[in-house]
Amino acid sequence: MTNALPEALVSYLAQRDTARADAVTALLGSLTDRERALIKEAAAMGYTLGQQLPQGTKIHRDREIMRLVLNACLAQPDAHQAITNDARYTERDSGLFHDASVMGYVQGMRYPTTEGPHDSEQILFLVVDACLSFQDLYRTLTGYAPTPLCAECDHAEDEHEEGDDPVTPGTCAACDDDEDRHDFRPADGVADEAQQPEEPTR
Ligand SMILES: [Zn+2]
Ligand SMILES: [Zn+2]
Repeated sequence: MTNALPEALVSYLAQRDTARADAVTALLGSLTDRERALIKEAAAMGYTLGQQLPQGTKIHRDREIMRLVLNACLAQPDAHQAITNDARYTERDSGLFHDASVMGYVQGMRYPTTEGPHDSEQILFLVVDACLSFQDLYRTLTGYAPTPLCAECDHAEDEHEEGDDPVTPGTCAACDDDEDRHDFRPADGVADEAQQPEEPTR
């Protein structure tokens, strides 16, 4: 037995790494300067605070993490101007602050020693990459919009096909034969979110 990975797997992993790096770069490039600065400050402070936690500490709730990060940034306003100097937070800014500070904190807990990145650009990269792995939890930063499911059958829209003419109901390919004759109708609650333009996905 050898520990070497098969060559095909090695090249697959290298491609995955490249694709992930490209996705992070694309996402960062889609932000305004202010948004990027805000995320960078929040991620770096979250990371620093997470690193300082003693091993085995219970994970804080998102809300507590945000408060900790915000207070720490307010204590050093000069180094956190994007966060402290602008009172006109939009809802999106708050969402970005949540995503960056919480994921920064979580990543800091993963690297409590000197192993992890220290440079704030590297931390930003690490945090955005990690958010992209949990898009449904970090929706503002990643632009994730859940796919609406059919109110009738809970299957995705692309399983459905329209009827041949306006009066004939469509069909759902994922349904059993006796339940498949209906048009797709988005379930309540996620329909509005699905109308948002598609943001980068991986
Ligand atoms: Zn359906
Ligand atoms: Zn169905």
